[in-house]
Amino acid sequence: MKLILLGAPGAGKGTQAEILGRMYGIPTISTGNILRAAIKNGTSVGLRAKEYIDKGRLVPDDVIIGIISERLEHDDCVNGYILDGVPRTIPQAQAIEDEGIGIDHALALEVNDDVIIHRMSGRRMCENCGESYHVVTHPPRVEGICDDCGGALVARSDDAPETVRARLAQYHADTEPLKDFYAQRGKLRTVEGCSTIEETTAVIVKILGL
Ligand code: AMP
Repeated sequence: MKLILLGAPGAGKGTQAEILGRMYGIPTISTGNILRAAIKNGTSVGLRAKEYIDKGRLVPDDVIIGIISERLEHDDCVNGYILDGVPRTIPQAQAIEDEGIGIDHALALEVNDDVIIHRMSGRRMCENCGESYHVVTHPPRVEGICDDCGGALVARSDDAPETVRARLAQYHADTEPLKDFYAQRGKLRTVEGCSTIEETTAVIVKILGL
């Protein structure tokens, strides 16, 4: 299965990607997680990306395409992959298509902006492994501690309300047009992402016929 997850920041792409990846034994490739790791490690890509991420802006397409092309060459991608947070612009989608990177479905998770803003205020992320939590809808077993690796849970700096507003505006302007791009190719599947995590997963599994 080669899947793209489309949706606004905070729509639940990362959460659903991890669940689906575990269910079907395929890796999730999250450009956001890869960029945050690059920033933490102080690489040249990380240094370049940080100035964009901190402002809620998109990292340039050439950086993103380089990351994806390199990652998809790893052996764990032979049976499929889930792209989480990429492509985010028409040029990225076009580049992915031009490079012959296969896509079976583009799954759009629909959540309205008010719900997103509310969700982002409670979002927490493990600073060690990147696992995502929410203080109300998906809390860890022990407050402030990652269930998977014991790392500390922190709010993402780009989840500050003014940055979230910039990210939502960017989503509507640059990323939402991807729905038409994949609809024209007969690959768009749409799911309402406002219910619980488990209900949303069940609908996705049904829609994709998995
Ligand atoms: P995410 O974790 O997917 O919300 O990504 C966090 C931030 O990383 C975004 O707000 C962008 O600044 C940057 N980023 C992640 N993926 C992409 C992408 N495909 N294109 C451009 N910027 C990206």
